[in-house]
Amino acid sequence: MNRRDFSKQSLMLGMGVLAGFPKDSEGRALNRPVNYYAEPAKNLPVRKFDVVITGGGTAGVVAALAAARQGAKTALIEVKGYPGGTVTEGGTALHSFYNLWKAFPGVKKRQVVRGIPQEIIDRLMKVGGTTGYGEMETMYDYDSVCTAVDTELYKLVTFEMLAEAGVFVAVNTMCVGAIVSGTVVKGVITESRSGREAILARSFVDCSAYGDLAAHAGAEFTVPNDYASCNSIGVGNVGMDDYYKFLKEHDAIGEMARGMRSGNENQLVRLSGKRVNLPEEFSAEASAIGMATVTTTVHDNYLMFIKFNLKVNGSVLNRDDMAKAELQLRQRQYRGIQLFREFFPGCKNAFIARTSPNLCIRRGRLIKSDYDISNEDVIEGRHFDDDVMVYGFHDLAPRFQVKNGGTYGIPYKALRVAGIENLLVAGMMITSGYRAHNSTRNTVCCMGQGQATGTAAALCARKNCGTRELRYRDLRKALENGGVYFES
Ligand SMILES: Cc1cc2nc3c(=O)[nH]c(=O)nc-3n(C[C@H](O)[C@H](O)[C@H](O)COP(=O)(O)OP(=O)(O)OC[C@H]3O[C@@H](n4cnc5c(N)ncnc54)[C@H](O)[C@@H]3O)c2cc1C
Repeated sequence: MNRRDFSKQSLMLGMGVLAGFPKDSEGRALNRPVNYYAEPAKNLPVRKFDVVITGGGTAGVVAALAAARQGAKTALIEVKGYPGGTVTEGGTALHSFYNLWKAFPGVKKRQVVRGIPQEIIDRLMKVGGTTGYGEMETMYDYDSVCTAVDTELYKLVTFEMLAEAGVFVAVNTMCVGAIVSGTVVKGVITESRSGREAILARSFVDCSAYGDLAAHAGAEFTVPNDYASCNSIGVGNVGMDDYYKFLKEHDAIGEMARGMRSGNENQLVRLSGKRVNLPEEFSAEASAIGMATVTTTVHDNYLMFIKFNLKVNGSVLNRDDMAKAELQLRQRQYRGIQLFREFFPGCKNAFIARTSPNLCIRRGRLIKSDYDISNEDVIEGRHFDDDVMVYGFHDLAPRFQVKNGGTYGIPYKALRVAGIENLLVAGMMITSGYRAHNSTRNTVCCMGQGQATGTAAALCARKNCGTRELRYRDLRKALENGGVYFES
């Protein structure tokens, strides 16, 4: 969509035009006239910060920690009541802190993402909130390790880390607009039960997954709608050992990894089933409701993630399309738990112990940045003269994997929003190509991007410069001091 269209539409709504044919959030013309109510203008209370980060999810938590640790007065705006985002709701495990060494005999095992993401794992380890880095025993040409996290402890641990770092964490608060002067963002407009506020700053990072701030600020974007959405469940009264027995009985074990579970080492923590070998009726029903056979856990007697996928009929940016999908997914989850009870020995009393508060998207808006990472960049293991992190996992492996179990670089330019002077993006909003996006969108890559953008935003605020004026060598030094790993 043309960015000016989206901004113009917001402006028109603000001016209270009385009737017309508006456009939706993707810029498509609605073919029905809409009456408007002219909302009276309000004076909003103003707060001032150095750095504002929108979205306290996978990337946003790390961005806020990084900015605050650089000494920036930092605000994190999160619409839910807790930080964590899709790490705590969508993914079975965190892909991946390591290179794909197991698939390439002779290649050195190395941890390629460290820094703040590793600190989060360390903190989780102390409270029994992660499997640690359990090595994959089968199908390790996909990932070499399994790092699952306890969804609830992740929220708590990251919340505490943000508080300790002095971040102003505005949970239950939504970013609903931007204050823009020319090509410079001056502030965000937020909405919460405390009312609407204007939060001003020098530098901004959009980590909202949907690209809400960037769109409000007039960034160019498209909405690819190229993935299924998902709501996952945790299943109680059934554990990995029961699931293993069921899969083994049918010679259907796919992925398998062992790690920490309920305080004990060397326990099964990840399993997936080969559908072709499972009972036909089960497989057909599971596939009809988009139910995945892969699961992970950190606890005995609990399967923490069973995913239910659904391609939204329409757009993930449309409230009414999403409402239909939310209901359909909950119906799928209910059918899924019945399948567990019916087919899995010892699972008669299985129940839904957790759902995500809303469905998770794999991509919303794609925000145009100064550089678009290609799949060739990823699989050829290319590095750039402005790398801000390195990464080695590809979700389409083994079909596409980073050459020789190596890494590629995420360049700083890929995180700078095109046409805007002081706005960075991190997370699932970057990378246009579906294949390349299947690498950059993964949790650990998003976390690394978070550290890079938070650090850069804080340095820009301190130096009072735009994102393009920041010297790469200053950014690199700050990232290295923050524990970020580079190959050379
Ligand atoms: C079903 C599913 C399974 C996946 N499986 C895996 C996996 O196994 N391993 C893996 O590594 N990756 C997996 N991924 C990918 C990965 O989880 C995501 O791409 C990644 O977590 C996205 O991080 P993010 O920071 O961009 O967004 P998020 O983590 O979603 O964070 C965005 C945050 O912004 C908040 N927000 C949104 N709009 C606003 C607003 N206007 N104002 C304020 N706050 C706002 C949201 O509440 C959220 O907390 C999966 C994704 C999905 C959907």
